[in-house]
Amino acid sequence: MNHGQGIVLNCTTENPQRQPGALIVFPCTKCGLCCKNLDKSSVYSYLNRGDGTCVNFDSESNLCKIYEDRPLICRIDAYHEQILSASMSRDEYIAANIQSCKDIQAAEELSISLINQEGS
Ligand code: SF4
Repeated sequence: MNHGQGIVLNCTTENPQRQPGALIVFPCTKCGLCCKNLDKSSVYSYLNRGDGTCVNFDSESNLCKIYEDRPLICRIDAYHEQILSASMSRDEYIAANIQSCKDIQAAEELSISLINQEGS
């Protein structure tokens, strides 16, 4: 997600293990929530199918249908290298993505909890 500070969070990194020297590795759980919350950032609007979910998201597998060819904004390492490396370190960027991921997951858990309360 982009939270107005040039922070983009999306799906998995190409290979989280490929930078063994990195201080932080993005711990993607493949929950798919970042691809289902595109309405939180205008940079993803062209991918939004209308309900916040990406047009390329496969709801059955919970994965990206175009993963190998996904846009730059969906590639954590490439996006940092090409767009943000002059303004923030990779570790800062990964840390910001981790925090955004936690925020999205917490909001989802709260939403599910409220729905369950309404149903009981
Ligand atoms: S293109 Fe793929 S990685 Fe990017 S938001 Fe859509 S489903 Fe997620």
